[in-house]
Amino acid sequence: MSDLKGLDVALREIVDKLAKPIPVERNMGYRDLSVIGGFGQYMRLWARRALELATHDKVAEMLRRLISLFEGYDVLSVVERQRRVNEAEQIVRELSALTCHAPVTEESASRLSQSAVQAITRSAVASQRAGVAARYTAVKPHADQGRASGKVEAPDKDVLEKPVQYLHGVGQKRAALLKRLGVEKVGDLLTLFPRRHEDRTQIKTLSQLTPGEKECIFVTITGYPRTERRRNITITKVPVADQTGSAFLVWFNQPFREAQLFPRMKLFAYGKAQRFMHSLCVVMPEIEPAGEESWLQIGRIVPIYPLTQGLTQNFVRQLVHNTLETLGWTIEETLPSELLTVHNLMPLREAFRQIHFPDDMHKLQGARRRLVFEEFLLMQLALALRERGFKKRQGIAFKTDMPQIQEFISSFPFELTASQKRAIAEIHRDMASPQPMNRLLHGEVGSGKTIVAAVALYTAVLNGYQSAFMAPTEILAEQHYRVLLELFQPFGVDVTLLIGSLSPKEKKKARRRIELGDASIIVGTHALIQEDVNFKNLGLVIVDEQHRFGVMQRANLIRKGICPDVLVMTATPIPRTLALTVYGDLDVSVLRELPPGRKPVITRWVRKEKRHLAYRFVQQELEKGRQAYVVCPLIEESEKLEDVDAVVRHAEWLQREVFPEYRVGVLHGRLPTHEKDSVMDAFRRGEINVLTTTTVIEVGVDVPNATVIVIEDAHRFGLAQLHQLRGRVRRSTFQSYCFLIGSPSSDDARRRLEVMVRTNDGFEIAEEDLRIRGPGEFYGTRQHGLPDLKIADIINDVDLLILARQVAHRIVEEDPHLQDPKYRALRQNVLRLFEGRIELIDIS
Ligand code: ADP
Ligand code: MG
Repeated sequence: MSDLKGLDVALREIVDKLAKPIPVERNMGYRDLSVIGGFGQYMRLWARRALELATHDKVAEMLRRLISLFEGYDVLSVVERQRRVNEAEQIVRELSALTCHAPVTEESASRLSQSAVQAITRSAVASQRAGVAARYTAVKPHADQGRASGKVEAPDKDVLEKPVQYLHGVGQKRAALLKRLGVEKVGDLLTLFPRRHEDRTQIKTLSQLTPGEKECIFVTITGYPRTERRRNITITKVPVADQTGSAFLVWFNQPFREAQLFPRMKLFAYGKAQRFMHSLCVVMPEIEPAGEESWLQIGRIVPIYPLTQGLTQNFVRQLVHNTLETLGWTIEETLPSELLTVHNLMPLREAFRQIHFPDDMHKLQGARRRLVFEEFLLMQLALALRERGFKKRQGIAFKTDMPQIQEFISSFPFELTASQKRAIAEIHRDMASPQPMNRLLHGEVGSGKTIVAAVALYTAVLNGYQSAFMAPTEILAEQHYRVLLELFQPFGVDVTLLIGSLSPKEKKKARRRIELGDASIIVGTHALIQEDVNFKNLGLVIVDEQHRFGVMQRANLIRKGICPDVLVMTATPIPRTLALTVYGDLDVSVLRELPPGRKPVITRWVRKEKRHLAYRFVQQELEKGRQAYVVCPLIEESEKLEDVDAVVRHAEWLQREVFPEYRVGVLHGRLPTHEKDSVMDAFRRGEINVLTTTTVIEVGVDVPNATVIVIEDAHRFGLAQLHQLRGRVRRSTFQSYCFLIGSPSSDDARRRLEVMVRTNDGFEIAEEDLRIRGPGEFYGTRQHGLPDLKIADIINDVDLLILARQVAHRIVEEDPHLQDPKYRALRQNVLRLFEGRIELIDIS
């Protein structure tokens, strides 16, 4: 048989191995480095193996030539090496042409037309530039089939859906590790996006390092690491060298590095070069041991993946690379082609390739842009569909111009601020319209949101509907209950409390009254959304401190009525971008001003050893008849016994040593409800002068006579939390004070305290928070019940967010059910990600 096809699989696999390191060796300057153990050795080894398989004279001849080219490669001059690599490349290209474009006859093999050679060369060059080996062999035979013939037939598209264990080299153990990175299916590897990329096209030699610059080097460890201790830092150093010189890698306060480093280990290091006492150092480098085959680690822009203990960069790289190479062709485009054209977006397959193994930084940008856009588009489509669902529904048209409402407002002991009046007007306008209200009331801590809510609650009641008011903590729910009870008693309106810690009997009674419609205004916690709570006719839902609730919790309360109006309230400033992401077209009312006469809280940061000064000041306030909070740092929610113990002990100490002539009380989450109640009551009535407490008072608590708050270990709190806590004492016309006690050890902690001292402005604080923490954490979407964004960044990618939003709205307008076949993939993905999270009435 003169047909070379029989050689295909086994031989091509080897030809691939020969092709892979060539461009890398070139990029590395022919330093025999591209393969650990030597490039020359490697080429000879694989060429010999190939020769064993070659049954065809011409092929054998080419392979013999290859073997001879790399004889003694390690001792050749660079110029000579270059010449040989060029020749070898030519041979490998021909070989790969012969073995790939089967069936190839002997005749065609010997007479490959000139133009064909050129074409193949061009494509080989292109893929080399891509840093991707010219041919990559499938790890398992199935994947070969689609590609082997050069044409794609009946592709096994499901491979991406298979468990990752299906891949060669992934056993149970590694599969478990990959799962920690969120990789369960083969296809998940594609969306395991690199944390960052490192440009290793330019590996520097030690002699080329410039102090002050961050560079990538490739070195061998020449001795044992050593750790020295100086005052309060440790310095770990290890000597390294390459052909051009020697240096030290240096880490501060990372003694664990010692265990990772041993002589003769080869590694890539990326860090800043510096000169310390005559020796060259690379300081705090990121390191990566060179693997068996280093061609994915070097000579290209290299992806750096998030890892977990037990996985190496190279392993993940290989896996992702293999998946792209062998299964990349099964990736189907998810966006309609006109979208790609109009918005100049990279096709999906290309984008996945470039996001992992970019040709250059420009392509990487393009890939990211495409993927970010799509991620936003899916989210915005889901939100647009939900909005459409809302708008289509028939809600309640409340009557809002009743004289009783004005009467109610005039009963308040103060005049409403202009902002409050405006907010009430906006809410009333929404309530009067037959479309369900979907409004956010946003106002700084202490701006008086509760009273605005009360007006809305009353409006619903006057119209004969029940209204529900949900708060995130029991303390806050009870406080609202108390405030509303007082406001509504003179008007004969029933107010009912429903919280988890009521006795079963009380709960049962409350539920019955809610069901029968005897309860008009129902105040409560999550207890309100329990299944056994049924409303007779719920017409209005208000959610306080809504950032504490997920989208689903809100939705569950809303579901208890028939298209009730919804008002959510928050004091947490929300960046516009997040508002767009999470709420879509939610209407917003803002309380810009605080009630008149409120002075900024004077805030001081006091070091621990001076805390007695703060307490002396508190004493003076107590003498004037004011009250104080003392907050001890606890981990919310999971208030552990020892923490509780700490608060109790602190309170005892305050009572005994600091304020013997005043009453000191204790409040924490572990107290039984009735005790919490009685403590709060006593504090409200002024019988307790100093309330020692955990963060249970963080949100909403309102005792105007309390004018000073001391926050112990303030550096352990986040900014948003500090701001909320401080909000407890800006509730009257008295001058109020906040003492932050703490000796922060980190820069971030110090910055937080400085910000608090500098400003009282919630927006400014939120911005600083964003700056200090980075966008990921605080403004994550998960806390709002939406799926995490994998690649998009709502702060930095705002332009794409806005574009995606426009596109989403256009699509939903044109095709509200996403029925057009071109939207098939989009529709599927929206359902996959959002079904069960938000209501997608029209398409599910
Ligand atoms: P928040 O917006 O933080 O929920 P609250 O609703 O708890 O604020 O109000 C804070 C305090 O301000 C309460 O004691 C409330 O009675 C009072 N208050 C609200 N509106 C006014 C106003 N227009 N004038 C004076 N005090 C007000
Ligand atoms: Mg409030």
